Amino acid sequence: MGGSFTIGKFSGIEVRVHWTFLLLLAFFAFTGYQASGSLLGALTATAVIVALFICVLLHEFGHSLVAQHCLRLGWEHSGRQRSLRSLGSSSPSPSS
Ligand SMILES: [Zn+2]
Repeated sequence: MGGSFTIGKFSGIEVRVHWTFLLLLAFFAFTGYQASGSLLGALTATAVIVALFICVLLHEFGHSLVAQHCLRLGWEHSGRQRSLRSLGSSSPSPSS
């Protein structure tokens, strides 16, 4: 993805963050400072966003690690078939 930078790598999965995430952090730091009038308020608001980011990151790592595990077990094809079936592409149309 253009405009993103790597912040780490785990289990062969590169973690990249888009630069606009820094804008989000700056926005919440500013909002936290305005609401509380203190640096602690700015840091707290920023920490909440970072904590939310970490939760989403762990959730996505859950998906990725399960996918890696399934690929190692050779479940790629059956998983693909299941997703195609759910889209209705492998079932006959009512008119045929
Ligand atoms: Zn999910």
